[in-house]
Amino acid sequence: MAQAPVTQQVSQQSVEQVPVYRPYLGPEVQQAAQEALAAGWLGMGPLSKQFEEAVEERLGLTDRRVVSTNSCTEALHIAARLIGLGPGDEVIAPSFTYVAGHQAISRTGAEVVFADVDPEFLTLDPARVRELVTDRTRAILVVDYLGIPARVDELREIADERGLRIIEDAAHAFGSSSRGRPVGSFGDITCFSFGPVKTITTLEGGAVVTPDATDVQTLRELRHLGINSDTDARYRNQRNWDFDVVRQGYRCHLGSVPSAIGLAQMPLLDEIVANRQDYCRYYDDALRPLDGLLTFATGWDGVAPYLYVVRVLGGRRQALVEHLAQRGIATGIHYYGAHGYSFYAGCRRGDLSVTEEASEQVLTLPLHPYMEKATLDRVVDGVRSFSA
Ligand SMILES: *Cc1c(COP(=O)(O)O)cnc(C)c1O
Repeated sequence: MAQAPVTQQVSQQSVEQVPVYRPYLGPEVQQAAQEALAAGWLGMGPLSKQFEEAVEERLGLTDRRVVSTNSCTEALHIAARLIGLGPGDEVIAPSFTYVAGHQAISRTGAEVVFADVDPEFLTLDPARVRELVTDRTRAILVVDYLGIPARVDELREIADERGLRIIEDAAHAFGSSSRGRPVGSFGDITCFSFGPVKTITTLEGGAVVTPDATDVQTLRELRHLGINSDTDARYRNQRNWDFDVVRQGYRCHLGSVPSAIGLAQMPLLDEIVANRQDYCRYYDDALRPLDGLLTFATGWDGVAPYLYVVRVLGGRRQALVEHLAQRGIATGIHYYGAHGYSFYAGCRRGDLSVTEEASEQVLTLPLHPYMEKATLDRVVDGVRSFSA
């Protein structure tokens, strides 16, 4: 029966833990959520439309359109359905990424083919992709790892030669740009995540950007049970009871409360990105001189950093993980190659030596929208004291 009072437990815990992620859920976000709850329209509604428009505006889109979803996984999935992926098709994808992209492909019955990443930025290597294209290849899945834009222009050449589509998993890259162009404003189909730990969040959420506005209707049908005429009514706070069902659809729209939270976060994006860039540069300056550790060769200009990752050399990653854990600093691993997971063990693949090496080395350090210098210094001191 007797339980230690909470205060006693807290006082025993002398240092505050530093988590890998810490979403920003400040007063304006709480207020937006409360207002949306009070309005009582919880499903897809006018706020969902406003959120899509805010994303379009943020990306500076004119011809392209945004369709919001309840996750990036589902955005990738309806993008895969939009381009008609199915059994017998192959999609070339990096093994070195989150399994959400692979799952979106394999769910259609298409096969994932694993290609290696380039050693510098650990993003899909166009030369390795080219080696793997066959007559069954229908698409390329590319990931903007950490928020650094992938080599989409080079992949475009291969795609054009072979008549392939490109699905860009930009889950890390909302707010990033490539040569001045916002990610999502160029290229083929782009998918964003507004998940719990992403740069800005709708709690759970995502979006598809399509270059072809005529795809919007299909994407809305895919998003909402194949129903052909409900979205416009819902965007006006109404329901259309007299609808047709025109295809196999799913149910992955973005509800009103998540949309309201996303709308409240959107004006903070520039500040959050600038902060994260500063923190990454601070880490770079402190950690670059250390032996046995590699940082990424970017200055973060134009990058909306989602994660801060270092590469730990000499097989010492686990030791560093434990060293930091003892100091109350959490770390993450993004990623282990997906070709190592049993469900994907049988997939066709090219040489994956860069992926395998990176899987052993990468270590994610804490990066939040708002961080105290003392927190950054605690992480830096932790890594330094390990290296020394
Ligand atoms: C987070 C993430 C996803 C999935 O996003 P959800 O919104 O959580 O479904 C997909 N790809 C990558 C690379 C991610 O980091």
